[in-house]
Amino acid sequence: MLKGKTALVTGSTSGIGLGIALALARNGANVMLNGFGDVEAAKAEVAAIGGKVSYHGADMSKPAEIEAMVRACEAEFGALDVLVNNAGIQHVASVEDFPVERWDAVLAINLSSNFHAMRAALPGMKQRNWGRIVNVASVHGLVASVQKSAYVAAKHGVVGLTKVAALENATTGITVNAVCPGWVLTPLVQKQVDARAAQANVSNDEAKRQLLAEKQPSLQFTTPEQLAGLVMFLCSPAADNIRGVAWTVDGGWTAQ
Ligand code: NAD
Repeated sequence: MLKGKTALVTGSTSGIGLGIALALARNGANVMLNGFGDVEAAKAEVAAIGGKVSYHGADMSKPAEIEAMVRACEAEFGALDVLVNNAGIQHVASVEDFPVERWDAVLAINLSSNFHAMRAALPGMKQRNWGRIVNVASVHGLVASVQKSAYVAAKHGVVGLTKVAALENATTGITVNAVCPGWVLTPLVQKQVDARAAQANVSNDEAKRQLLAEKQPSLQFTTPEQLAGLVMFLCSPAADNIRGVAWTVDGGWTAQ
């Protein structure tokens, strides 16, 4: 489906981003990876599928590095057709205890990076009149949870930014959408499971059960593969007229 196209997935050395990068490669796209995890392992996994894979180490909190990454992708592959803004971090604390530096980092990496990457990628997509931008938001782009002020503010921002970019490009071949996962068992969430296990003095499995029971009615984690399936659908011709949605994959979290 994406033969000859190039995709850039931010934060794709683990978790959801890596799952999406693998699916893009399976569908024939050249893939540029990014992120601070195990780069060689991620590259090898994508390369094993076939197609071209490369990596850029841009820090998503640095606008100039984000622009340089988009330019490097265009220079290496001739175009950037599919942009998946996925990099993200979490910090958990009440508003009055939230370290100012963590607030700034969460906003920069989870929200502003989406703006900087889209700003750099849109002119090229417009020239070719085709593009797919998928911003990985969260259920926390739609509803809130305590102790996550920066994350919830950033993800609500991503949903708003997605709608604006979708509208600005509504008469073009460029679609902009957001996906909103509930709990996905990635390194980002495992940290929260570990904290809960330590705090409540329960096992890892019991901490996971409690985490799901609190918010996610299906009592199942969403998987990176399920999210990748949705991203592939958004890249398909069937999704040509899907614009500015915030699509939940949350086991019923936001239906409550
Ligand atoms: P993860 O920790 O496995 O992956 C995050 C990725 O972002 C990693 O590759 C990491 O190296 C990269 N990253 C972090 N800071 C970076 C920076 N400054 N510059 C470049 N890369 C950076 O986490 P994940 O759960 O796969 O998260 C991916 C996205 O999904 C995030 O935006 C997160 O908010 C969102 N999300 C996750 C869940 C969940 O339950 N795991 C739920 C909803 C939304």
